[in-house]
Amino acid sequence: MHVCTGCSCLCDDIDLKIENGRISRAYNACRRGAGIFLNISSSRAKPTIDGQQVDLERALQKAQEIIQDSENLAIYGLDTTTLEAQRLAIELAEKKEAFIDDNSTFCLGDFVEMILKKEIPSTTLEEVKNNAYVLFYWGTDPYHSLSRHLSKFTYYPRGGKRQRGYEEDRFLVVIDIRKTHTAKLAKKNARFLKAENDADIIRGFIDALEGRSPKIFQKEIPRILKEMEKGGFNVIFGGLGLKYGLGGDYALLKEMIERMNERSEVYFMPAGCHPNMRGFNELLFEKTGHVNRYSFREKRSSDDFAFHRLLKNDSADTALIIGSDPLNSLPLEYAGKLSEINTIVIDPRETFTGRVAKVTIPSALSGVESGGTMIGADGSRVELNPVFEAEINDEYILKKLLEVV
Ligand code: SF4
Repeated sequence: MHVCTGCSCLCDDIDLKIENGRISRAYNACRRGAGIFLNISSSRAKPTIDGQQVDLERALQKAQEIIQDSENLAIYGLDTTTLEAQRLAIELAEKKEAFIDDNSTFCLGDFVEMILKKEIPSTTLEEVKNNAYVLFYWGTDPYHSLSRHLSKFTYYPRGGKRQRGYEEDRFLVVIDIRKTHTAKLAKKNARFLKAENDADIIRGFIDALEGRSPKIFQKEIPRILKEMEKGGFNVIFGGLGLKYGLGGDYALLKEMIERMNERSEVYFMPAGCHPNMRGFNELLFEKTGHVNRYSFREKRSSDDFAFHRLLKNDSADTALIIGSDPLNSLPLEYAGKLSEINTIVIDPRETFTGRVAKVTIPSALSGVESGGTMIGADGSRVELNPVFEAEINDEYILKKLLEVV
């Protein structure tokens, strides 16, 4: 069996059929996951300098020269690569007194940080499968973003104490600003709460827990709390909608979870996409006490060290992008600056950022062409089982860059 690195579920039951040295089937994988295995040869990156194809050694040498000469290096991306490569990138950042950041600044790094600081209780997907009764999906639509979350880990599977099927043994709560595909599943034994304001819904739960009538969802909130007491083990999956709905202030969320835990076990888990975002957060946290936006020169984390802010404020003379495409995902006014500084891209595939980069270095696809370890959104470590072994992977390239610092 192989592990899919298509999202933070890190499904470890992918059964591949290989014919004439090519992967022809990816059983059990969702559409996104199957695409990774079946399309390994499409849009592969090539070694380039200033957009011109060169041999790999020349590209590596040029990248070494740039890193050596850089005075303000920013390292970014990293959520699609392995822990082993992330560790090397952090070592490089430390030696160069560089900035380091990943997608979790935009994504769910705040939630991971609260879990690592033990400010909110969390659990594993295995525990959820075996025990969880009320499942909240709050500001997230896993039907699209984490396609097998519901079927493999949470709502549909039977396991442990949950043997009677989702119709009886799970209670689904979807909270979102619109009726998403996940919300459409909320029929029997389920509730959909349309979120005009996430903080108001949290206040509604706190009011009900304190014996007052909630100002909104007066019938739904007490019913959900009653189901939670009945189930005994419940979990809230929080997504980007919840993060941005709360505007960075999580005091109420923490209070609600604490109060809920006085009546039943309630856990919180980020529902984010990047396969090894949590891995990067954990490694940086172990090293610095922060999960992202870190400056090794100033030895602190700050919004000013978020990658887009570094670009906006012209704080970096060199960007080393690993497994990410900021030109495709960040606002152009910031990402456009990548063409003005020395940008090095390490990626298995061609990217928009690669087109404006000084140097591009093609790498192996983690999980398909190189092994290593990743940490899923629930904190579980997963060993990758590659189909092929490419010599030039992120680890190899980062070790080469480390040789010159
Ligand atoms: S749910 Fe995620 S990890 Fe699982 S097969 Fe789909 S893309 Fe891959």
